[in-house]
Amino acid sequence: MSADPGDDPHVRLLLGAYVLDALDDGETCRVARHLRGCDDCARVYVEVAEASALLALLRSDDLRE
Ligand SMILES: [Zn+2]
Repeated sequence: MSADPGDDPHVRLLLGAYVLDALDDGETCRVARHLRGCDDCARVYVEVAEASALLALLRSDDLRE
């Protein structure tokens, strides 16, 4: 088994798009199913979700200035 980044069994590369709801249905299903069974990716997902919530807050602050 070689480490092919295009065939990652984990879904870390998709988590950013998953948080932004930018994946198609198949990918969304795959990520959701994987997160239920993989503590590592679930932890990364929480971090990405928090970071993106913070970024959204920062962005709305910027808009007000
Ligand atoms: Zn994983």
